[in-house]
Amino acid sequence: MADFRIGSIAGDGIGPEIVTQARLVLDRVAEKYGHSFEYVDILLGGASIDATGKPLTNEAIAAAKSCDAVLMGSIGGDAKTSPWYKLEPSLRPEAGLLGIRKALNLFANLRPAVLYPQLAGACPLKEHLTEGGFDMLIMRELTGGLYFGERHTTEENGVRKAVDTLTYDENEIRRIAIKAFDIARKRRNKVTSVDKANVLDSSRLWRAVVEEVAKDYPDVELEHMLVDNCAMQLVRQPKQFDVILTENMFGDILSDEASMVTGSIGMLASASLNDTRFGLYEPSHGSAPDIAGQDKANPIATILSASMMLRYSLDLDKEADAIDKAVDCVLSSGVRTGDIMNENAEGKELKLVGCSEMGSIIADAV
Ligand code: NAD
Repeated sequence: MADFRIGSIAGDGIGPEIVTQARLVLDRVAEKYGHSFEYVDILLGGASIDATGKPLTNEAIAAAKSCDAVLMGSIGGDAKTSPWYKLEPSLRPEAGLLGIRKALNLFANLRPAVLYPQLAGACPLKEHLTEGGFDMLIMRELTGGLYFGERHTTEENGVRKAVDTLTYDENEIRRIAIKAFDIARKRRNKVTSVDKANVLDSSRLWRAVVEEVAKDYPDVELEHMLVDNCAMQLVRQPKQFDVILTENMFGDILSDEASMVTGSIGMLASASLNDTRFGLYEPSHGSAPDIAGQDKANPIATILSASMMLRYSLDLDKEADAIDKAVDCVLSSGVRTGDIMNENAEGKELKLVGCSEMGSIIADAV
């Protein structure tokens, strides 16, 4: 029997290409460290529509639940040309993604924003702010808050009025705070909890519960930061952050800001976790239909998502370190896919490779 069962969702567009390379790297890790991974192929999104008529089936949910973790490429096609977008919204590829996140109760979204010194040119900030790179992780609550609260629009005496509500209970806050502190222990032992406690009741409760959780983690430094200040600090001094913990809407905005600061969409991993060790791991980018099937995609975001899977769901830290180091070495050696070809902070001669060659070179570097 395999040590771990890994769900594998190739998905659409560049998805199959990048997942193939991530699996190649995982297989090399398994070989080197004496593990065995069994892959369970799962259909989702457009690929599932083509095969079953639905973007997500009960079989796919059951298969995902039977795994220790799921690695995913990306979902979706070109909204203008793909027949999937002629279907009603609940039958389109993205409905499958939302459905599986809900079915698996994935409430914590993790998005690392890492600036590799080798790719510093992609960062829009001044050099002195980012020298040596930075490495932060945004943990965003994904199933509560403003996006899931009650809402309605009314009209009274010809005046339209819209209401959205932002609700959190202490259990929702506690479970994600625990995740953030656990993960900080695997990193640099610092949590910055972001809220708007000077104005919002939900933020005051957020702050109080995070402080209660912090008592169980005396080795982890906790600081609170108001969201407006955090938005400034991300572009002023990004190196100060380790784990940023925040609610749904603030996290939505801050995680996009943080990823823009790194500048390289093909490099950004992500994970969504529930309250067990299970997680769904996927690149932050989409299915890039414009370059699908051309061996041009950068597989690194997916390979780094596989590394996060080893670290956070399978507890294989040294194996995850091996992947992270391999990516770092390969970037230092000057190997680049097209999307990061202009990034040459170290003045090295660069070599342009395709998706499959990049995957093989990283696997060899493991
Ligand atoms: P996208 O991220 O797919 O592409 C944006 C641009 O970045 C494109 O020029 C693309 O070629 C490039 N790019 C993206 N990933 C790359 C990689 N790994 N290597 C090199 N270049 C890369 O965003 P989009 O074009 O807005 O969306 C395309 C499809 O993806 C849509 O159907 C959208 O709904 C879907 N999408 C899916 C997810 C997901 O699966 N979680 C996330 C975002 C978008």
